[in-house]
Amino acid sequence: MKNRKVHLLVIIAMVAAVASVVGFTARGSGSQSPPATSKPQIKTTLSTSVTKAKSPATKTSAAAAQNQILRNELTWTFGGKQQRGWYLYDALLVETLDIDDDPLSDNFAEAVTKWQKRRGLSASGMLDQNAWMAMVSHWQSNRLKNRASATPDQLVTAPASDFYDPSRAAELRQVERETYSAYLKMIAAASEDLKLSSNDRYFKIISAFRSREYQDMLRRKSPNSGSAGLAVNNSPHFTGRALDIYVGGDPVDTKTENRAIQVNTPAYKWLVRNAEKFGFRPYFYEPWHWEYVK
Ligand SMILES: [Zn+2]
Repeated sequence: MKNRKVHLLVIIAMVAAVASVVGFTARGSGSQSPPATSKPQIKTTLSTSVTKAKSPATKTSAAAAQNQILRNELTWTFGGKQQRGWYLYDALLVETLDIDDDPLSDNFAEAVTKWQKRRGLSASGMLDQNAWMAMVSHWQSNRLKNRASATPDQLVTAPASDFYDPSRAAELRQVERETYSAYLKMIAAASEDLKLSSNDRYFKIISAFRSREYQDMLRRKSPNSGSAGLAVNNSPHFTGRALDIYVGGDPVDTKTENRAIQVNTPAYKWLVRNAEKFGFRPYFYEPWHWEYVK
């Protein structure tokens, strides 16, 4: 009996010792951190796992919310000039991403994600600096590659009635032959779709073929146009395959307010949707400038 009592005491003592060691270890794990079994820590763990397991829908909505800010505020540089936001390019973006939704929608963010994946970019769904500059490069890479000057036999003189300024001299109404026939097909389709009357100025040609001499003269008249505006050495207008087409507003003014008007006209929106079918591609920065790339 006595022995058993001793045994029991030993066991109780051992249990107590173990318990105190455990207790000390728990306290010793840092007085700053909360006790291992307290609720806050469990909560922290839970909320971490919730963040990790965020559903794609939540991620897309967050990207859409960011796009709302970036659309107006993203700072970027083009043609040596600082630019703000990408809202002027809504129509082009929606066309390039092949969606019908506006740029603030979840669908837009989702389409951006897919586009980013295809291009090997970080697939955030946000049209941030990286994604936006990749988009600009994409548009620029689709432009006319061969900028060789047109030879006289490649040019035709379009009638004055095709021009925004019908008093324009004949030598300033020259267009590369294939470009001109594609243009006629395109405006026939546009006039039908948009129910334009013959005295409507939409789609009239502002400027087509320009000789180097004429381009130099334009640059002298407008020395601050910057490299995004009048090209110095290799204007696509030298080829006769670039057309400045009237899409509303002040015909060829790059001011933000003017372009904001132009990108919202039915004429511009029609071109964005349909010009490619006729072989024309945009210069994203100038809503009026289209190049025949076939
Ligand atoms: Zn142009």
